[in-house]
Amino acid sequence: MAIYGTVEMGGTKTSCALGTSPDDLASALTIPTTDPVETLGRVIEQLAEASPEAVGIASFGPLELRPGHPDYGHMKVTPKAGWTGVDVSGPFRDGLGVPIGLDTDVNGAALGEWRWGAGQGLGSIVYVTVGTGIGGGALIGGGPVHGMGHPEMGHISVRRHPDDRYEGGCPLHGDCLEGLASGPAIEGRHGVSPERLIDEDLSAAIEFEAFYLTQMVRDMVYILAPERVIIGGGVSQLPGLVKRVGDLLPFELAGYPGLPEHESGFVVRPGLGGLSGLAGGLVLAGMALRSFG
Ligand code: ZN
Repeated sequence: MAIYGTVEMGGTKTSCALGTSPDDLASALTIPTTDPVETLGRVIEQLAEASPEAVGIASFGPLELRPGHPDYGHMKVTPKAGWTGVDVSGPFRDGLGVPIGLDTDVNGAALGEWRWGAGQGLGSIVYVTVGTGIGGGALIGGGPVHGMGHPEMGHISVRRHPDDRYEGGCPLHGDCLEGLASGPAIEGRHGVSPERLIDEDLSAAIEFEAFYLTQMVRDMVYILAPERVIIGGGVSQLPGLVKRVGDLLPFELAGYPGLPEHESGFVVRPGLGGLSGLAGGLVLAGMALRSFG
C-alpha cells in the first residue's frame, strides 16, 4: 500500500506526517509557520526522507484552487506576513517529484472526517472550525466545493443576540459570524481566552456561541443541504457547546424543511479529534495519485 505524505498548514503551526490512514499515521514534524521558504523547506526536507508516493496539503488560505489557473496553488492576498502570492504546492512538486494534492484546511478536514471520521458513509457534509477564525469546508456529492476562490463561511451575517454588547472584532465586517463567535471575539467580549472562562462568563459565552453557530448551521442547511455538520476547532471544545447547537437547530429551522434527520445527531464533533486535517491530507494525496495515474 502506498505511503502518503500529509501536511496540515495553519496560520500558527504546520505539521506533516506519513502513513496510509489515521491509524498508522506517523508524525514527522510540527513547526511554527514562519516565513514560507523556511516553513515549506523544512517540511519538504522531512517528507523527502520517507519517499512518499504522493503528498496532500491542507492549508490555510486564501488559496487559488481553480485548475488551470496560472496561479493555481498560490496563496492569494493574506494578512499573514510574507505569504501573499506564495506558491504552496509548486515547491512540493518540484522538491519531491510526486503528485501533490492541495485544498483548504477545512476542506481537508472535511475529507478526513468523511473518509474515517464523523462523516463516514455520507455524500454531503460540512466541516466547520471555530478557533482563531471561523471557516467551513463542504463536501457535496462526494467532492469538495470550490468556486472562484473557496467558500468563506465564517463571514456570513448573523442576527445579534439581544444581550450581546460586544461590537464584533472582524477587521473587515465588524459583527459578522467570525467577528462575534471566534476565539478572539470571546476574548474581546469577556476579557479572557475561551479556555480560561469560568462561572457566569463561561455560561454566557456558551449561550452566545450556540446562538451564533446555530444560525450558521441553519444557513448551511438552507444553502447546501448537507447530511451532517461537523464542528471542530478550539472553541468547539467549550463544554456542551456542539450539543447545544444541535438542540437549538430545530427551533432555528422553525419546522422547515422539517426533516427528522435535523432533530438529533446532525451537528456533531469531529470523529478524528485533532487528526481531521492530517487525515484529509492523506485523502488529497490519494486523489492526486489517482488523477496523476
Ligand atoms: Zn468578517
